[in-house]
Amino acid sequence: MVAQRLDGKVCAAEVEKDLLSRISACVENGVQPHLAVVIVGDDPASHVYVKSKVKACERLGIRSTHVGLPAASTEDDVRKIIGSLNEQDDLHGILVQSPLPSHMDEESLTDLIDPMKDVDGFHPQNLGRLVQGRMDGMLPCTPSGVMRMLSWAGIETEGKTAVILGRSRIVGMPQSLLLGSKGVDSTVTVAHSRTKDTAELCANADIIIAAVGRPEMVTEEWVKEGAVVVDVGINRVDDSSRERGWRLAGDVHPDVAKKASWLSPVPGGVGPMTIAMLMENTVRAAEQSIES
Ligand code: NDP
Repeated sequence: MVAQRLDGKVCAAEVEKDLLSRISACVENGVQPHLAVVIVGDDPASHVYVKSKVKACERLGIRSTHVGLPAASTEDDVRKIIGSLNEQDDLHGILVQSPLPSHMDEESLTDLIDPMKDVDGFHPQNLGRLVQGRMDGMLPCTPSGVMRMLSWAGIETEGKTAVILGRSRIVGMPQSLLLGSKGVDSTVTVAHSRTKDTAELCANADIIIAAVGRPEMVTEEWVKEGAVVVDVGINRVDDSSRERGWRLAGDVHPDVAKKASWLSPVPGGVGPMTIAMLMENTVRAAEQSIES
């Protein structure tokens, strides 16, 4: 079997196309969707991510405000910025780019974002709704992007066994809630760094979502013939054959394509979906500001 490509670029382009008419409707109501991205420090990868988000805003006609702070800024500096962005009526989404410098407490800063503007979906009120099985809050972008991609490809989830590799607040944990939610109805196992029989769990799974941050950890032997494999991982690995000396690798070995029925590529899989979902959350926040 050769896996079909779970093409995040194509799916994200469709999501963005659908957003255009919603954005026009907002503008007709006198509201231009507006996203603020706060970045602290000079981590090169974070700056690349922020650039892609700002570019997506430009493509769609979403206004973006980029707030860049030096690495030496204090947590209080970020608090003040979040406070003033919360107050800004013409601004609908606030994203604080992760990771923050180690002297800052990311979670307590997330707590300060107005839940209605929490387009990352990490505020306890939004994550709490997800735990309750309510899908009416802001859903975290990466796991909701994975769900959208599965549904776009027509992949059946009901009654399937799914293994999520990773239990982070940002990806693995919300992913497990979404896949196990009513209406999606997979039976979910979450594996983490202390799980003993990870390879065996995967070998019995219909769906594997890898969100670990370990290059090419999931090998062909771990995967059942015909399984659906989604690779969330983005890892930079040395590669002297490339001019720049490195390449991007996922958490899944490319040979898995020989056994899986579907496999998402890295890059071009979950990454573009994450950005598309961020755009969708921003538009939704703008729509809600019109309704309220
Ligand atoms: P974290 O480091 O926060 O979490 C990693 C998780 O993997 C933890 O739960 C950890 O377990 C678990 N883990 C570590 N080793 C193993 C192992 N051997 N077997 C099973 N589980 C293990 O990472 P994130 O969730 O933030 O990100 C995961 C990956 O996804 C990264 O490569 C990241 O770059 C990528 N990513 C991609 C995005 C995209 O848009 N495509 C968006 C966000 C992230 P424990 O809890 O026990 O420590």
